[in-house]
Amino acid sequence: MIRVKKNHDVPSSLTTTSRYDGEDVRKQLLVDQNDKCYLCERKRDTDFEIEHHKSTHNFPDLVQDWNNLYMGCGYCNRKKSDSFDNTLVPKDCNIEDEIEHFIDFANKKAVFLSKINDEQHNETTELLSRIYNGTNKLRTTKEERFFEQAVSVMNRFTDLVMKYQESPTPETEKAVRDELSITKELLGFKYWIIKRDQTLSQVFAADIIWNKTA
Ligand SMILES: [Zn+2]
Repeated sequence: MIRVKKNHDVPSSLTTTSRYDGEDVRKQLLVDQNDKCYLCERKRDTDFEIEHHKSTHNFPDLVQDWNNLYMGCGYCNRKKSDSFDNTLVPKDCNIEDEIEHFIDFANKKAVFLSKINDEQHNETTELLSRIYNGTNKLRTTKEERFFEQAVSVMNRFTDLVMKYQESPTPETEKAVRDELSITKELLGFKYWIIKRDQTLSQVFAADIIWNKTA
């Protein structure tokens, strides 16, 4: 999960109609989020839903608030439901810095560690853990498929990084850089692979800050 850079212009249907799900809202959210779910960072062509960061059930006044709207996938939307109203605000927080992401391949788990121990950070790590690791001790079939997809994306990325480390050529460097593009999936995890290594974090410094520029 990474920070979302949100367009400052409020889609007009939010002020001229009583709806929150106008086509202009959908289109703008997809543009702002590069067609990715803001929680799991998977690309979504059709399975997307307008998500209220603070749920409509608990915060009816924010139903049409542009700053409260994000694009999520059906899978994450149902995990979040109205039980996670106090997670980090994606447009305001550098989530990719504040929460360490990594896949523990040996234990088949995604791990999320927060440097800050407060309610917002704890709720965000709990939600991410439920999305990736399932709600109960054993993953359901759907949760298992979801996790396997994430593992496959990260295996591919780790391979490209290793190829670069074994042989740092313009080609292997470009292959890593391409995977760090804002249009790609699972950047929260990929950024931490870069950040944990001193050389990688120098070479790819400019590739992991796209969303922090004004
Ligand atoms: Zn999702």
